[in-house]
Amino acid sequence: MTIKSVKAREILDSRGNPTVEVDLVTESGLFRSMVPSGASAGKHEALELRDGDKTRYQGKGTLKAVANVNNIIAPKLVGVDPTLQKEVDNLMLKLDGTPNKAKLGANAILAVSMAVSKAGAAAKSVPLYHHVGDLFGTKASSLPVPMCNVINGGKHAGQENSIQEHMLMPTGAKSFREGIRMISESYQQLSSLLKKKYGVGATLIGDEGGFAPSQIEDIHERLDLMLSAVKNAGYEGMIKIALDPASSEFYYDGIYKIAKKSYNRGELVDFYADLCKTYPIISIEDGFAEDDWDSWVEMTKKLGSKLQIVGDDLFVTNTERITKGIKLKSANSVLIKLNQIGSVTETLNAIAMAQKNGWTAVVSHRSGETEDNFIADMVVGTNSGQIKTGAPARSDRNAKYNQLLRIEEELGNKAQFKPKTQVPKQGYIQKPYISPKHP
Ligand code: PEP
Ligand code: MG
Repeated sequence: MTIKSVKAREILDSRGNPTVEVDLVTESGLFRSMVPSGASAGKHEALELRDGDKTRYQGKGTLKAVANVNNIIAPKLVGVDPTLQKEVDNLMLKLDGTPNKAKLGANAILAVSMAVSKAGAAAKSVPLYHHVGDLFGTKASSLPVPMCNVINGGKHAGQENSIQEHMLMPTGAKSFREGIRMISESYQQLSSLLKKKYGVGATLIGDEGGFAPSQIEDIHERLDLMLSAVKNAGYEGMIKIALDPASSEFYYDGIYKIAKKSYNRGELVDFYADLCKTYPIISIEDGFAEDDWDSWVEMTKKLGSKLQIVGDDLFVTNTERITKGIKLKSANSVLIKLNQIGSVTETLNAIAMAQKNGWTAVVSHRSGETEDNFIADMVVGTNSGQIKTGAPARSDRNAKYNQLLRIEEELGNKAQFKPKTQVPKQGYIQKPYISPKHP
C-alpha cells in the first residue's frame, strides 16, 4: 500500500477561521484530516502558519500552508508506505528544517501527519486507535474519563481576567457511555438553573460548547451552580471537577488578576488550595503562567500529592520543556495537543515521556476545532485515560465523544474504563462535598 496523492485545501474551523485540510489517497481510499487552532495559545507552540494578507480573513488565511503541502510535501510522499509514520514525520521535519516548523507551518505538517496515520490504519485493516496503539507500543483498550468544559470563561467567552474552563469529570461512571450520559444530563440541568436565575442570555455558549454567563464573575458561584446541576441530575458525589484557569491570559508582570482581585504567587497557590478544600477538584491546568516556572514548582510542592497539576502552555507538548518540568518537579501531568508540536510522532513521544515518568497525559482538543475526531482514537491508542474536548454540545466537540462511544462499542468486553486508576484517586478535600451555598 502506498500514497498516491496528497492534496491540501483551506477550510473553516468551528470559529469560522480558516484552517488546513488534507486529502491523502492510497489504494484503500481517501483519508482526510483537519487541523484545529487555539485562542489562548502558548507562546512556545510550534508555528501556525497564517498568510498575513489583511485583505483575506483578517490575515488568518492558510493558503501558504496549503501551498507548502501541495508543492513541497506532497511530491516527496507519493509512493511512500503510509504505515511508516515515524519516517514520514521525520522526512517532513527535515523538509522544514526549523526548530518550530516556521518554514512549512505546523498546520501544514500536522494535517499530512494525521492523514498518514489514518491511511496507515487502513493499510493494515485495523481501526485507527489500534494503529496508534501499535505506533505507541500499547494494546489499545482504555476509554478515557472525559473532562467536559460546561462553563466557558476567559478568551473562549470574550471575558478578561476570568478562569477559562470549568469541567465536570464523571469519575463514578462504570463505562464511557454512562459517563457521557451523566455529563449530558448535568449539562441540561445547568442550562435550566442558569435560565431560571439569570434568564436565557446566561445560556449562550462559548467556543467549547459550555455556557458563558458573563454576569457570573465569581468562581465560587460558577462551581456552586455546576454542583447543583450535578445534584439535580442525580449524580452527587459521582462527578468531580477540573479547572483550567489558563492563567497566562491574566498574568501581568508577576501579578495574576481574576475578576477584580489581584494575587501574587503565594496568594494564588492559597486561592487554589482553598478552592480545593471547598470543592471536589481533582485537576488544575495552567494555574500559573507559561514561563513562571518557580510558581509551578511551589504549587506542585504544596498541592501535587493530592491534585493533578497539568501543564498546557507551560509544556506545549514539547519534550524539551517536559524534560525541564520533570527535572524541576513543576507539575505532575502534561496536556497533549497535536498542533502545539505539529506531528503525530512527536505527540506520541510527549505522551510516552509523561507516562514513563509517572505523570499523567491528558489528550486535548483546541478551542477552534473541526469535525476531525483523530484525538478520540489517539487517547484510546495511547491508553492515556483522560480527554478534554469541551461540553457535550456542538458537533465539533461531540464528534470526539461520539467516536469514543463507537470505539467502546467496538471493543466490547475488552473496553477498560477505570477512572480510579486513570485520574487522581482523591482530590484535595477528604469528605463528600457539601457546599455552604448548595440549595
Ligand atoms: C486550553 O487552553 O486548554 C484550550 C483548549 O484552549 P486553546 O485551544 O484556546 O489554547
Ligand atoms: Mg489549557
